[in-house]
Amino acid sequence: MDCIFCKIISGDIPSYKVYEDKDFLAFLDINPLNPGHTLVIPKKHYRWVLDVAQFKNYWQAAGLVAQKLKQNLKAESINFVTLGYEVEHAHIHVIPRFKNDDLGSTIDWSKHKKISADKMEKIMKEVRGGVF
Ligand code: AMP
Ligand code: ZN
Repeated sequence: MDCIFCKIISGDIPSYKVYEDKDFLAFLDINPLNPGHTLVIPKKHYRWVLDVAQFKNYWQAAGLVAQKLKQNLKAESINFVTLGYEVEHAHIHVIPRFKNDDLGSTIDWSKHKKISADKMEKIMKEVRGGVF
């Protein structure tokens, strides 16, 4: 199947991985709304978040990632969003929010930030917090 997130899981496409367990993978969104904007995906291909068999475990993994963002990036709060119209592989957006970021209370999705590869690498390490 020609799925970009399946290719990330197989390693055919590189990603900034911040968390992994046997069923789920989390990596930085390449068009982040804030530094640390992460996508959590099931390793098995499902079309929608609601289709994921281990639904509860899936959200638990997203919660773990959120704790890392909160602690390691000092996020003030965390937004969990699932859309899924662009990439047809289930993904949960976990978006750290910071005081005075410019996203607003409903999230302005046009406000992507340009973050260099060096900075993305640094953010990835910060989110991991020395453990993986
Ligand atoms: P949506 O399907 O609307 O929830 O959006 C899909 C998200 O995946 C967007 O925020 C993209 O920036 C992100 N995205 C697409 N390709 C990649 C990739 N290769 N690595 C990381 N994030 C990606
Ligand atoms: Zn897929």
